[in-house]
Amino acid sequence: MSIETQVSEYYDKLLQRNAGEPEFHQAVAEVLDSLKIVLEKDPHYADYSLIQRLCEPERQLIFRVPWVDDEGQVQVNRGFRVQFNSALGPYKGGLRFHPSVNLGIVKFLGFEQIFKNSLTGLPIGGGKGGSDFDPKGKSDAEIMRFCQSFMTELYRHIGEYRDVPAGDIGVGGREIGFLFGQYRRLANQHESGVLTGKGLTWGGSLVRTEATGYGAVYFTKEMMAARGASLEGAKVIVSGSGNVAIYAIEKAQQMGATVIAFSDSSGWVHTPNGVDVEKLKDIKEVRRERVSAYADEVEGASYHTDGSIWDLPCDVALPCATQNELNGEHAATLADNGCKFVAEGANMPSTAEAIEVYRERGIHFGPGKAANAGGVATSALEMQQNASRDSWSFEYTDDRLQKIMSGIFKNVAKTAKEYGHEGDYVIGANIAGFKKVADAMLAQGVI
Ligand code: NDP
Repeated sequence: MSIETQVSEYYDKLLQRNAGEPEFHQAVAEVLDSLKIVLEKDPHYADYSLIQRLCEPERQLIFRVPWVDDEGQVQVNRGFRVQFNSALGPYKGGLRFHPSVNLGIVKFLGFEQIFKNSLTGLPIGGGKGGSDFDPKGKSDAEIMRFCQSFMTELYRHIGEYRDVPAGDIGVGGREIGFLFGQYRRLANQHESGVLTGKGLTWGGSLVRTEATGYGAVYFTKEMMAARGASLEGAKVIVSGSGNVAIYAIEKAQQMGATVIAFSDSSGWVHTPNGVDVEKLKDIKEVRRERVSAYADEVEGASYHTDGSIWDLPCDVALPCATQNELNGEHAATLADNGCKFVAEGANMPSTAEAIEVYRERGIHFGPGKAANAGGVATSALEMQQNASRDSWSFEYTDDRLQKIMSGIFKNVAKTAKEYGHEGDYVIGANIAGFKKVADAMLAQGVI
């Protein structure tokens, strides 16, 4: 049977076994498409049902999260943790609190995480979790009670050597604090390495807050340098206004770019003169308000709820909000307007159609599993500091992050070239991420 037929039969089975999980299907389809190229060249990677095992999580946990709101009413949410692959190290991946969270979303994120974590070169496996809990509009006390209830079930499944969660959409420093507190209480030990993204006085790492956004820009810098371009003087669009977006904006502007727009799920802000990052941090991180407040308070900025942020002409686009936020039409508009580089700060923000347009229209594209790996890489650096009871300086940690991002870019570019697809970083990232995990799985037997 040809590799093409084998892979397509396997994918059909996956669709049947995982019905109603379109994001998971999308993530697997993209990886399998790249892997056909590897399997043609190195057929032993199909031995021992390796591909089937890779697409089946080692463990999937779904649990009830009851909590009491400020009115005394009992609310019930659903909690998830998908422990996808631990061949390279303990499961590692964030927790997402957002009403859209379901098993398929957590599986897509966990699957992507396997390859991303492999690309960092650090000893971490892939996992992801979260809940359909919506933190928006909740009081601090409600968030705390929810986090305590969530951890009351999760704590028995995680640990420094087993599974190390972190933040993601809706889970930042405040939530990690409440989660860590409850873990410490239930486990009766101060196990710093059980969660990352901690506060700086209790085991957190400098640069972790900035890492995903900074890392995406370091990756963009490498991708542009390979084409003789640079961020100096470039016009950049960054979607979102959360943790990843804010620090992508900060670093892009430090490197001489002008960030001309950012957004939230209600609308987008046009900032033709660049972004006042301190003002944005105050609105989002301190006051926890919507981005429309920025346009109210900063001269020259305007707020829009019509059209799309991707309609603005730019040189570089950094989607940093959520999955499937940039579709084929958006990608075509970006190309028409002269955009040459797209790098994903978010996970899978480009649809399959958008990626096709990037290929056809010659847009250089850094997929999330490579471009946003700086966050999890710095989480692994936090784990190293915890294991050695040490804390490193900002400069040292940032330098490690830059070297890791540069290493990822080189590995991805080299792999793409080696497999006959020079400049295709989707193929490069999928194959390079896959081979390391696959070699470990083959060495460790059928488990
Ligand atoms: P945050 O919760 O800090 O911010 C999320 C941002 O995205 C907000 O501006 C939010 O707007 C917007 N957003 C969320 N859902 C939607 C939606 N359905 N439509 C439009 N906008 C939306 O999350 P992060 O910044 O941490 O995460 C952003 C992305 O980066 C995610 O894809 C995440 O998986 C990925 N990522 C995060 C890492 C990290 O270290 N934090 C690491 C690697 C990847 P609003 O407030 O209106 O909801």
